[in-house]
Amino acid sequence: MADPKEIQNFDELRKLRLADEGYFVITDTVRGAIIHKVNSKCITADKFNLKVSINGRKQGSYFWVDSIPTAAREFGAKRCQVCKPELTLVFPSTFET
Ligand SMILES: [Zn+2]
Repeated sequence: MADPKEIQNFDELRKLRLADEGYFVITDTVRGAIIHKVNSKCITADKFNLKVSINGRKQGSYFWVDSIPTAAREFGAKRCQVCKPELTLVFPSTFET
């Protein structure tokens, strides 16, 4: 598993969205850490700028992680109730009779 990567600017965030791999973790001193899908509507330029640029990461930050287990291990992150990232992969063989 790869280590979490803190996202430094919106261009980096945009590139990670285009790559369409992994998940974003948004940490928050009040709400705790939440895992979002990489292409979720939860992730916006306005929210990113507010947290990272305007508030200077004082109340949390944005990270990229390779998997949900990494997010859980590193941040104790919970799944977002809006974009609902998958908890487990279901293999095709599950459905074979
Ligand atoms: Zn979300």
